[in-house]
Amino acid sequence: MENKLELSRDTQSIWQKETIEHRLSFLPQLAKILSDNKQKYAECITNEMHKPITQAIAEVEKCALLCTYYYENAAQFLATKHIKTDASESFVTYEPLGVLLGVMPWNFPFWQVFRFAVPSVMAGNTVLVKHASNVPKSAKLIQTIFEEAGFPKGCYQDLPIPSDEVAEVIANPIIKAVSLTGSEQAGIAVATEAGKHLKKCVLELGGNNAFIVLEDANLEKTVAIAVNARMQNAGQSCIASKRFLLHENVADAFVSQLKTAIQKLKTGNPLDKTTEIGSLAREDLAEELEVQVNKSIEMGAKLVCGGKRTEAFYEPTILTNVSVEMPVFKEETFGPVVAVTTFKTLEEAIELSNTSEFGLGVSVFTQDIENIKKHISSFNEGAVFINEMVKSDPRLPFGGVKKSGYGRELSENGIKEFVNVKTVVIN
Ligand code: NAP
Repeated sequence: MENKLELSRDTQSIWQKETIEHRLSFLPQLAKILSDNKQKYAECITNEMHKPITQAIAEVEKCALLCTYYYENAAQFLATKHIKTDASESFVTYEPLGVLLGVMPWNFPFWQVFRFAVPSVMAGNTVLVKHASNVPKSAKLIQTIFEEAGFPKGCYQDLPIPSDEVAEVIANPIIKAVSLTGSEQAGIAVATEAGKHLKKCVLELGGNNAFIVLEDANLEKTVAIAVNARMQNAGQSCIASKRFLLHENVADAFVSQLKTAIQKLKTGNPLDKTTEIGSLAREDLAEELEVQVNKSIEMGAKLVCGGKRTEAFYEPTILTNVSVEMPVFKEETFGPVVAVTTFKTLEEAIELSNTSEFGLGVSVFTQDIENIKKHISSFNEGAVFINEMVKSDPRLPFGGVKKSGYGRELSENGIKEFVNVKTVVIN
C-alpha cells in the first residue's frame, strides 16, 4: 500500500506542474475508450452487481459524457480570476490539493468513480480509489482504462483494501483529502478520521427522496416518470424516489396506474437486453428490504402488490397507508419499494417531505409551475426537480444536506471541491 501512496505522491508532484491543456488532452481518449468498449465494461458491471445490461451501458455512456463535459469546460472553471481591489493587482488561482482518496460504492460502479476522479485529476490532483468490495473487477478495470488513455501511472490507482484499513490511509500524511460516496455509517467513520487529521472531506451519502404528486399533475406522464424514478437499478440509487406523497384526490388513480406499469416490467437474465429489472446486488440487501417492508406491514401499511423475495430478487412492491414512523418512511429503502402516504395540502406535503433525516432531493409534479416556484426554498434538500425525477447531470451540482452529506460533485462546484483557492495580492 505504501508503494502505491508514494507513486501517487511522486506522480502528483509532476502532474500539478503540467498545463491544464496537457492534463485535458487525455480526456478525449478516455471518453473514446469508454464508448468503444461500453458493451464489455457494461458486462463487467452487470456480472458483478446484476444491473440490467441496458442500464449498465447507459452508465458507461454517461461516464464518457462526463469526460467530454470537463474537456470542454475545466480550463474555464480553473482559470485565474482577477478581482478588482485597492491593490494594484489581485487575483485567485485554483491549485490542486495533492493526493486524494476516494471511497466508492457498488451501485453505479463506474459512474460514482468517474464523477469523483475525472474533475479531481483535471484539477491537478492524483487519486487512489478504494472501491466497494463486491465490485473488484470494475475497480481494476477503471485503473486499466485510465492507463490505456495515456494518463501517467499513478494519476489513478485502484486501492483494493478492506474498509477497516481506510482509516490508516486517511491518516497517512501523503493523503490530503478524501471523498466518500456511501452509507451514513461509512460517512461517519470517514469524516471522523478526516476530522482527526484535519483533512477535507466530501460526503455523498444516503437519500430518502420524496416524490410529490399534487392534485393538478398530469397523471399519465407522472406515473411513467415514477416507474423510472423508483425502479431504475432495482431501486438501488441514493437519489431514487422512495417516499411517494400523493394528494388524496389522485392517490387511488395514481397507485392503480403505477401498479399496472410496474407489473409490466420485464424480469429475467440481466445480460438480456430486454430485461428491465434485475435482482439486488446481494442477497443480504434483499433480506434487509424484506425486514423493512414486513415491519411496516405489521405497523399498518397495506400491501398493494409485490412483497415477496426469492434469494436476491425482490418483487417490485407498492405499500399504501404508510405513516411517518414506519421503516419504509423513516429509513432509506435500497430496493424496488414504493411507500405511499397521502396529504391534503401543499403545506402538508412539504412538511412530510422535510420529515426525513436525509436531504438529497425532491421531485414535485404539478401543472402550476409559478406557484411551486414560490415554495422551492421550503424544501430542505440539495435539489428540487419539478415535473422530473431527480437525476445527476455533469453540468449541474450534485450533493445533499442533513444526513445526505456535504460538498458537491459535478459541474464547476465539483471541480472546485479539491483545490486550494489561493488569493494573490500585488502592490
Ligand atoms: P457502504 O456500505 O457505505 O459502502 C460504500 C464504500 O464505503 C465501500 O467502498 C465500503 O467498503 C466503504 N466502507 C463501508 N464502511 C466503511 C467504514 N466504516 N470505513 C471506511 N469505509 C467504509 O455503502 P454501499 O452499500 O456500497 O452503498 C449504498 C449506500 O450509498 C446507500 O446509502 C446510498 O444511498 C449511498 N449512495 C450515495 C450516493 C450519493 O451520491 N449521495 C450515491 C450512491 C450511493 P466495503 O465495500 O469494503 O465495505
